[in-house]
Amino acid sequence: MSQKKIAIIGSGFAGLAGASVLAQAKLDVHVFEKNESIGGRARQFKNQGFSFDMGPSWYWMPDVFDRFFERFGKSTTDYFELKKLDPGFQVIFNDSETLKIPGEYQELLQLFEDIESGAADKLEKFMSEAKYKYEVGVNDLVYQPGLSILELLRPDLMKGVFRLQVFSSFSNHVKKYFKDPRLISLMEFPILFLGAMPKDTPALYSLMNYAGLKIGTFYPMGGFGKLIDAMESIALEQGVQFHSNEAVNGFNFEAKTITHLTSRKTNYKFDAIMASADYHHVEQKLLPKELRNYTESYWEKRVFAPSSLLFYLGVNKKIAKLLHHNLFFDEDLTPHAEDIYLNKRWPKKPLFYVCCPSKTDNTVAPEGSENIFILMPVAPGIEDTDEIRETYFKSLLKRLENYTNEAIEEHIVFKKSYCIKDFQQDYNAYKGNAYGLANTLMQTANLKPKMRNKKVKNLFYAGQLTVPGPGVPPSLISGQVAAKQIINYLNQKTI
Ligand SMILES: Cc1cc2nc3c(=O)[nH]c(=O)nc-3n(C[C@H](O)[C@H](O)[C@H](O)COP(=O)(O)OP(=O)(O)OC[C@H]3O[C@@H](n4cnc5c(N)ncnc54)[C@H](O)[C@@H]3O)c2cc1C
Repeated sequence: MSQKKIAIIGSGFAGLAGASVLAQAKLDVHVFEKNESIGGRARQFKNQGFSFDMGPSWYWMPDVFDRFFERFGKSTTDYFELKKLDPGFQVIFNDSETLKIPGEYQELLQLFEDIESGAADKLEKFMSEAKYKYEVGVNDLVYQPGLSILELLRPDLMKGVFRLQVFSSFSNHVKKYFKDPRLISLMEFPILFLGAMPKDTPALYSLMNYAGLKIGTFYPMGGFGKLIDAMESIALEQGVQFHSNEAVNGFNFEAKTITHLTSRKTNYKFDAIMASADYHHVEQKLLPKELRNYTESYWEKRVFAPSSLLFYLGVNKKIAKLLHHNLFFDEDLTPHAEDIYLNKRWPKKPLFYVCCPSKTDNTVAPEGSENIFILMPVAPGIEDTDEIRETYFKSLLKRLENYTNEAIEEHIVFKKSYCIKDFQQDYNAYKGNAYGLANTLMQTANLKPKMRNKKVKNLFYAGQLTVPGPGVPPSLISGQVAAKQIINYLNQKTI
């Protein structure tokens, strides 16, 4: 039998993970990427001695990465050094009061107790529930394809279903344990990664607290670009072929099956397709109307995680008061979140995040300099102009200068902004979204856009807009799960 040929659209974490799994199954795998460099939202760029990770900076859930590398008889340490950050991060409140979050859990318990009497015991109870959710959620549920409700109606899961707390709100859950507003903010912050308000997010996601506070925050030395390089090496070893700078622009069909994929260069014959580019783009731009899973109005009704206004800065001096991860919670979260989700406008008093990887890694900036990345969450789809970006740049920098008590602006030797228009142009991202769909109750697990096209037999979707959701670990899992679906399809198994 001739070797089956599989095309993967997009070289982000989902595409890279899926490609290696499929090639390991002795399939002939080709990855098509519209950009020059691979890695999708996690690409890296270099300028004037600075190396900037363009997207992800928090390496959480190392076990998910380990599990992927083990599939190929490898370990992450074969490719990069993984450092546990201690402190993991700091939160900056009003009047420059800061909470430094220890990397060691015993010290975290002490910190909680110092802030609120009895909070250490409560954190222990909170974490023991969160551990259960992490073990069931991250080790099992997220590896399900989300195609049938039967995946969730298993006796072992049904026994513990109440412990998973899928139907109660995260916000209420946290407030049952803690009273101090700083502890509440600290516990609610990981939920912002999931792109929704804590009140709209199921309490199931306290597994994120377990990931971030108990397991800890890690950093791949050299940056996330090293993780992409490692995944590329695995893919190449398995025989994957990359076609970068080659956007896919359509398909040919026969009997509701894709026969060929077309790019600006040519027309290739394939047996199955994994589309890991933004789901909306693939459906609305590459498929005829009658073969789409969802309509434009379906997408219009989804709750998207925020987009981001980003600044990549090279600064020619050291800034003492910054840590690797710095969360500026010096304004109230609610009005900012309302501007993202309800008012859908530029925020009046935004919170923001500053990453300074040169605190940990001297390869990402010239000696004596800092590599700084500023991220401010914004509503997807709003007007994006250079003037608006600059107005926010000035005000965020002022807050940064006030907190650090340093002049920064005159020391900036490299500056690049990135926002909605860039996400649209670089990644074909719907409304310029940065991290996909929000994990609200109505958009969790089986309620997400489906991994399989219902009308085209050999078209499967992967990535942050389908199961299990946004973030690097979920995208990595998504590619592996979609690959398994394709292998099953090729083996003509019932899925
Ligand atoms: C600023 C930012 C910060 C983040 N921070 C974190 C973090 O700290 N931790 C974390 O876990 N997650 C973080 N995330 C989320 C995480 O980066 C993403 O969820 C993940 O990288 C998405 O991977 P993906 O494979 O689904 O999609 P992508 O990385 O977007 O890959 C899709 C690829 O498809 C390509 N493509 C699009 N259209 C076509 C076409 N027609 N033909 C060919 N190719 C095409 C795109 O160019 C892209 O390379 C962050 C994201 C952003 C943007």
